[in-house]
Amino acid sequence: MRIEENYSLKKHNTFHLPVKTRWFMEYMNEEELERIFRDEYFQECLSLHIGSGSNLLFINDFNGIILHSQIKGISVAEETEDSVLLRIGAAEKWDDVVAYAVSEGWGGIENLSGIPGEAGAAAVQNIGAYGTEIKDVVETVETYNQLSFEKCTFTNEECLYGYRDSFFKNEHNDPHIVTYINIRLSKKPQFSVNYGNLKEELAKYPEITLQAVRDAVISIRRQKL
Ligand SMILES: Cc1cc2nc3c(=O)[nH]c(=O)nc-3n(C[C@H](O)[C@H](O)[C@H](O)COP(=O)(O)OP(=O)(O)OC[C@H]3O[C@@H](n4cnc5c(N)ncnc54)[C@H](O)[C@@H]3O)c2cc1C
Repeated sequence: MRIEENYSLKKHNTFHLPVKTRWFMEYMNEEELERIFRDEYFQECLSLHIGSGSNLLFINDFNGIILHSQIKGISVAEETEDSVLLRIGAAEKWDDVVAYAVSEGWGGIENLSGIPGEAGAAAVQNIGAYGTEIKDVVETVETYNQLSFEKCTFTNEECLYGYRDSFFKNEHNDPHIVTYINIRLSKKPQFSVNYGNLKEELAKYPEITLQAVRDAVISIRRQKL
């Protein structure tokens, strides 16, 4: 576990604002996360879990504890003739997950190429782009309940997904930290290209493949930025 005091969050927010947090804690696994949650000092402090900080705007220094996951790894949890179930550590960079799936020929998230952030936050935010949302592939989300100290597994339905919204964003629910996400991808991908100017961009490619869709989406995103 890594613990830093008066730590600069410059590297942890997209705008590179030079704000500081009183404490920064980075845990490597679920056991370390549980130790943090059970700590009495932690329980008394204001805390915020961040991913890569691409959807957060820090205006002032944070007088509390910023938590960050280092739970990584992508593994095949289940494989059938038609699909694979991937178990992904919350700290994996989302776009690395997409690049990996595309390189393996597994479809379902290629339209979500180039979205900044980590896998855990992607499932919290229900990220979406070019007619696809992560909720279309999420099978389950593994979490740790900050109040009851229980490990939980949410089915897709239990995640209560809406537009850029989920159970995990509702402040009336117990706070849950996402540790792993499980997504089902297709070995026989069906392309969804009738959204925005994706079809137009894909006309520049000799054929529609997972890689072509990924490259086209990234190209459009770069033009927009
Ligand atoms: C240039 C740019 C382009 C973008 N394009 C898109 C787009 O096309 N589509 C789209 O949907 N979004 C887009 N976004 C928004 C952003 O990429 C997503 O919201 C992304 O999921 C944020 O990931 P993050 O790791 O940076 O999360 P953060 O910004 O660090 O956190 C986001 C939220 O998730 C919570 N959180 C983070 N990790 C966990 C965890 N492990 N467990 C529980 N809660 C957690 C945080 O507390 C916070 O509430 C874009 C942002 C930028 C800056």
